[in-house]
Amino acid sequence: MTRRRVLVVEDERVINDQLAERLRAEGYDVAQAFDGLAAVHEAHAGEPDVVVLDVMLPGIDGHEVCRRIQALRPVPVLMLTARDDEADILVGLGVGADDYLTKPFRMREVVARVAALVRRVDRAAELAASPERSPLVVGALTVDPGRRRTTRDGAEVHLTPTEFDLLVCLAREPGQVLTRERLLADVWGWAETGLTGVATRTVDSHVKALRHKLGATWIRTVHGVGYALEPGEPAT
Ligand code: CA
Repeated sequence: MTRRRVLVVEDERVINDQLAERLRAEGYDVAQAFDGLAAVHEAHAGEPDVVVLDVMLPGIDGHEVCRRIQALRPVPVLMLTARDDEADILVGLGVGADDYLTKPFRMREVVARVAALVRRVDRAAELAASPERSPLVVGALTVDPGRRRTTRDGAEVHLTPTEFDLLVCLAREPGQVLTRERLLADVWGWAETGLTGVATRTVDSHVKALRHKLGATWIRTVHGVGYALEPGEPAT
């Protein structure tokens, strides 16, 4: 089995080394970058499977690094942020981050998140190779898992890989309320326990971004429970 490559991007050397050491102990090949430009270069040259990316970097910041990395090749990004601030998090998700952790974090939490992202990549590869070729149709919305395309009234809706996986999950069971825990398990590869408030908000933030692209009425929030894709014509 090939070892997975993780790129750790953090200018604080002590933290970077701690992350690298722990991830190597877990069996990953680890590359380290200490500033934004080096990170972009390493992401291009080293083709990591997962990137752990601090937002606060000298030169170009983590958001811009994420944007540049994703422009070349989609890769799961775990963002590290010093601020537990939703606006900041939405910016991160907007540039293609898949998950985030607020500092200070526990090493085993980083390891768990990285492992979940690796499982997600594996599952996406399986899905792409699976025989599920028929598009899912929900009202005016068509979601095609085989081609990874979404259209609304025939017009293409551009979604990030995470937004697309989230929509596929909801579109398989239109009208059904899917819990955040279920979405974390199915979309993010999280298994049962170990949930934190931050992880739950990852779901909320991605739903918010998806809703922004689809139109507000497509996704119904059931407070304290989860989300449902509405099969009916959206109210205008
Ligand atoms: Ca930093």
